[in-house]
Amino acid sequence: MSDVIELKELHDEMRHWRRHLHQYPETAFEERSTSDFLANKLTKFGLEVHRGLGKTGVVAALTAGNGGKKIALRADMDALFIQEQNTFGHKSRHDGIMHACGHDGHSTMLLGAAKYLAKNRNFNGTVYFIFQPAEEGRAGAQAMINDGLFDRFPAEAVFGMHNFPDIAAGHFAVKPGPMMAAFDCFEIVLKGQATHAAMPHLGNDVIVAAAQLINNLQTIVSRTVNPADAAVVSITQIHAGNTWNAIPDSVLIRGTYRCFNSAVQTLIADRIKQIVDATCAAFAMTADVVFNPENPGYPVTFNTDAETALALKTAAAVAGEDSVLTTPTPSMGSEDFAFMLREKPGCYVWIGNGSSENSCLLHNPHYDFNDDILVIGAAYWIKLVELTLTEE
Ligand SMILES: [Zn+2]
Ligand SMILES: [Zn+2]
Repeated sequence: MSDVIELKELHDEMRHWRRHLHQYPETAFEERSTSDFLANKLTKFGLEVHRGLGKTGVVAALTAGNGGKKIALRADMDALFIQEQNTFGHKSRHDGIMHACGHDGHSTMLLGAAKYLAKNRNFNGTVYFIFQPAEEGRAGAQAMINDGLFDRFPAEAVFGMHNFPDIAAGHFAVKPGPMMAAFDCFEIVLKGQATHAAMPHLGNDVIVAAAQLINNLQTIVSRTVNPADAAVVSITQIHAGNTWNAIPDSVLIRGTYRCFNSAVQTLIADRIKQIVDATCAAFAMTADVVFNPENPGYPVTFNTDAETALALKTAAAVAGEDSVLTTPTPSMGSEDFAFMLREKPGCYVWIGNGSSENSCLLHNPHYDFNDDILVIGAAYWIKLVELTLTEE
């Protein structure tokens, strides 16, 4: 592929960009210098740049030929509140913040593709390059949509990519249907009556009720959800009491649930409310239940058939058919690209970050994006544009 040869000449430049972004990570909706960096480069390459969607989001438009087809390609820009433990030269210079999910690499691959496509314009139609803020738990994709993303940039389909450490470097994995789970959080405050630990009959013990409630909640997946549907409910926090000899008046319980379809998502939420109410009734207590108290939940990341077929064809063209996994196990993790896929048909692929001894998982303080996959990642975007925006 001639693109790959030309892109190899871009490799040094992309590595430089990626390491720059890695050194100056910014978290959700704070991606100011990151978006400045990207917007300046995109403007220089000759794209039409729009800013401020979802606060720090950037959209760059590029049109070639006279075709009316339009597609959107999306990368994420944000980093995590993790103290980097790497010692190499390009380690984070921002205390307590690091690119531990590879979004520095995602932005770089899309920027490399933008540079190449702006120069060669070997397609017929319009490409929207979306650089979104706040993928990590803060729903930056939804914030861009709320700011009119797809009204102002009416793409017919949208495509996303994430690196995956457990897949060989430069290999791809993609399938139609669910790729990543829906994600929701919940918070329960159970209210009883405080009393001396030696005289439980004079109060109403929330600790015992909480223990029952947690066990009851664990029956949702095992007894209510269809065994053929994957789902998980996890209690992740319990806070109550502060001494040895007094029973407190309340317990705070927090948790999360994940699944692969919206009907199961609704079923789990309904069952949580029913089980809380019934357990409270059994113990003559009250409770408040709040879903997603701090941030919105994420929907299922769901790939549509036609766009997945295109992604598979593209991945095979750039990596070779043997390097494309077509039946990956969907992840119970979540991805806010799901919000874009709820608006438009599209496809989300994984690109292997390498599964060598030295590679580690996402969100690990020793993680680093693999610069060796920058070229193949950018080539995927370019090939996808070439295959989608053809002569009419
Ligand atoms: Zn992440
Ligand atoms: Zn990520």
